[in-house]
This record gives sequence, structure tokens and C-alpha cells, in this order.
Amino acid sequence: MADENTEATTYRILMVEDDRLDQMAFKRMVKEQNLRYDYTIAGCVSEAKEILSRENFDIVFVDYLLGDGTAFDILESIADVPTVFATGTGSEELAVKAMKSGASDYLIKDPARNYLKVLPEVIKNAIRHKKAEDELKRYHENLIDLVKERTEQLAEEKELLAVTLSSMGDAVIAVDAENKIILFNKAAEKLTGWKFDEVHLKPIDEVFSIIDEQTKQPVESPIDKVLISRNIESGSDHDALAARFGRQCPISATAAPIRKDDGTMTGIVMVFRDVSQKREIDRMKSDFISSVSHELRTPLTSIKAYTETILYDRNMPEETQREFLRIIDEESDCLADLINGLLDISRMESGNLEIVREPVDVLAVIDCTMSDMRALAQKKKVDLELNVPQQLPELIGDENKIQSMISNLINNAIKFTPENGRVVLSATTTTDRQLVIKVSDTGMGIPTEDLPKIFGRFYRVYRPGKQIQGTGLGLAIVKEIVVRHDGRIEVESELDKGTTFTVWLPLTPQQAPLPVSA
Ligand code: ATP
Ligand code: MG
Repeated sequence: MADENTEATTYRILMVEDDRLDQMAFKRMVKEQNLRYDYTIAGCVSEAKEILSRENFDIVFVDYLLGDGTAFDILESIADVPTVFATGTGSEELAVKAMKSGASDYLIKDPARNYLKVLPEVIKNAIRHKKAEDELKRYHENLIDLVKERTEQLAEEKELLAVTLSSMGDAVIAVDAENKIILFNKAAEKLTGWKFDEVHLKPIDEVFSIIDEQTKQPVESPIDKVLISRNIESGSDHDALAARFGRQCPISATAAPIRKDDGTMTGIVMVFRDVSQKREIDRMKSDFISSVSHELRTPLTSIKAYTETILYDRNMPEETQREFLRIIDEESDCLADLINGLLDISRMESGNLEIVREPVDVLAVIDCTMSDMRALAQKKKVDLELNVPQQLPELIGDENKIQSMISNLINNAIKFTPENGRVVLSATTTTDRQLVIKVSDTGMGIPTEDLPKIFGRFYRVYRPGKQIQGTGLGLAIVKEIVVRHDGRIEVESELDKGTTFTVWLPLTPQQAPLPVSA
């Protein structure tokens, strides 16, 4: 399109006019006014169409009545070129119709051809108008593209946010400025027991509350705190979520204000997670510390008491002295066992528990362990029975560790069996060359829900009212020893009836031999 602002601009014009006199008048005007028109004249519709099919013009000036048709026939075939329509006096209606059909402007021809005087201005305006129209169209198209692109971007961002939120392990809830829920991810649904659809736009206080884990009384939630401080806030270490259907679970929560660019707070987002496991571990750790301290203090107190008595009682008969020294010796062994257990656990944790591979005479190990345990069994008035064949094949493994495994299992069996109970150790081999050791007791049993946890470090079954000492390390050590010998361990138990631990150990483990420990 030619640029009307430039002095040097030449307009390419197609004039469609069948009247020779009008044609000549037009030519004369162009010449007289020295107009920069590069024009072509067509005398009829077909000629105009033919020219239009091969040439481009900035504007078409077309008379209404043409020998082989009308200006409308031409209007139909011009798509994007401004057209000025000319018609005789008294045909204004036609002119209006032409404008509606897409003409840019019209001129009423007069016999004196005065219309030619305004023609240059009309042409200039039509071209300027067309240019403005084209720019507007381009602007609209750009705008549409931009809106489309932004909409797609927003949809993608929304999708990404939705996927991220729903795949997050942490629960995320957001409320608006009126504390009504506007966001609730999958983890939040799982923890609270509510579906997003059920709580959308509900006041958060109606959906769940945060309570103190111990007192069960409602406490200030991090969201309440943010409402006051307008800053990031965390809950306390005793927070629990009072969820749907009376369910409660300990949580760790943090909330933060949602702000617009200008700093106005438009809502609050809270992230929280179920910390039951962490609290359980914390509980087990503190139980463990108090157990270890107790276990260490008991033999130490008695060692100290007996040593002091020997030191200060000069007249003590030699026999009593020897008896006291024997007790001191025993208690020292207990201390050493406990410390060894702790060391084993710490080696296991750091992956440094070494297992020796050497031929082990299992029967000899069993005998030795049984005689160690006999005194304990007698003291507790528990029958200790042995059920083993005359001979057992050699096992490749770590003698000390296997002894520790058997003595842990028998020790537990005696410890958790009341007076007059019975503990049986049996050993046999299978056809696929496995040693099977069973330790059964007629003791207090283990609740089903605790069975999967008893091999965990520091785990002790909660037995209210029963003071049974221990650190909860024994079975963790047993399990590690079994696994390191390529074996497996299983437990069956019935409350108040008894428990059986069964260990399978391959006589020749598959694992590559490890260096012999120093
Ligand atoms: P530790 O062995 O370190 O002195 P512990 O005996 O309490 O302490 P584990 O040997 O690891 O710890 O046993 C874990 C828990 O499993 C025990 O506290 C006990 O409640 C339960 N348990 C283990 N063996 C038996 C058993 N034969 N009968 C009943 N409960 C058992
Ligand atoms: Mg034990």
C-alpha cells in the first residue's frame, strides 16, 4: 500500500468508467493538478476484472453503470482494495447499498463534473482510511495472538501447579482473605478426610482444627498466627490435626501470607505433614536413653555398693568377700554386654559390622549359650529345654555373632515368660542345606500390631504396668546377624500363649567372604 504522507508517493489507481468523456475529464484533471497517479482505465466490468486479476492497485474508482454489468460485480471481486463508488444524481440509495457492500466512499456525479474536484481528496481519505483499518486489523490480530498465547501459558502454568500440588507429599491448603478455603491438594484431602469439592469456599475453622496432642484442647493454628503477625509462622511441636470422623494425627505445620505485588495480603497458605512416625521415633529415642541409663546404672550401682562394702568392712569373712567379688564380676559382664550391644548397633548403623566366615560347630555354640542362660532361667523359674539332633553339619559363619543371636532369642524368651513357663530351643537342618533354629516360649506373646516393628532398633512393646528392662536393641542385632548370614527370621506369636522365633541360615552363605575382623 502506498504511503499518503510521503510527497513522492504515487497512487496506483484503477478507474472503471465506460463514459469516454468522464475518462478524458479524469485524465485532464490528473494532468492539470499534476497528481502522482499511476492509473489504468477499464471501460467495462470484464476488462476491469481481467486487469485486477494480474495487477495490484491502491484504490479502485468505479462508475455504477457499466456496459456489461454494474459496479457491484466489481465490488464482489475486490477483496482488499479500497473502492470509491460513483453514481448519478438521485441514486444516493444505491450509494448507501454500495457502502454496505464494502465500498470505502461514494461520489455523486454531476453533469458539470464538479465531483472531479473532490475526487483527489476522496481518494486520499479512502487510502488513509484503508491504511488505518489495516493497522487496526493487524493490531487486533496481534492482540488475539497475544491473548491466545497468554491463555495457553496460564493454562499450562495452572496445569503445572495443579500437578505439582497434587503430587506433593506435604498437605497444602490456601484460604482467601476471609479465611475460606480456595486450595486443598490431594495430601490435604488424605490427612483431613475431606474432599476439596466438599470444603471449597468453606471457612477453614469449620473443616478442621489444630489441637494440642496431649491436652486435646484447640490451640492457635499457624494460620491464626499469620492473621495477626502477617508473617511466616510455624506450629508447635505438640500440634495435632483434629480431622474428619474424629481422626487425629500429629502434624508439623507452617503458614505464610499470600501477598499481591503491592504487598496487600490476599490470603494464607499452610503446608503441613503427618509426623506420627517422627514422633514415634522421638518417643523411642527418649525411651532408649532412659533404658540405657537405667541398664547402665543398675549394674554400676551394685558394683559400687559391693566394692565399697569390701573396702570398708575390714572384718569381712573371705568367703563373703569372694561372693561379692563374683557378683561384681557378673555385673561387669552385664555392663560389657550392654556396651557391646550398643557398639554393634553403632557399627550396624555405619555399615561396619564385620562378619567372619569360618566353620562353626553349631551344637557347641548352642551348648555354650544354653549353659550361660541356665542360671537366668532358674532364677526366673522357667524351664529351659533343648531339642537338637546328635549331630549337626558345620555352618560357615561368625561364631560369636551366631552365639549372640541365639542368646538374644533365649534371653528374650526367658525375660518375657512368667514363672513356671517353658522355653525350648530346637535345631535341625533341611534338605536344601539350611540350619533351622527355633526358640519357643509359653510367655506373654506379642500383640499382632507390634510384630512388624519388633526388629526395628530401640522398639519395645508397650506393656503398661510391667517393668521389664531392655533397650530394644536385641532383635535389631539378631535381624542384622541373620541377614548378614544370608538367612531369614520369622516370628509367630499369640498374646498370653507364647512366641516362636524361627531362623533359617544357609550352611554355606552365598555372600563373598569378608575380611576377618581384627
Ligand atoms: P534388649 O534386648 O536390647 O535388652 P528388649 O529385649 O526389650 O531389649 P528386643 O530384644 O529387641 O528388645 O525385643 C523387642 C521387643 O520385642 C521387646 O521389648 C518385647 O516386647 C518383644 N519381644 C521380643 N521377644 C519376645 C518374646 N519372646 N516374647 C514376648 N515379647 C518379645
Ligand atoms: Mg532382648
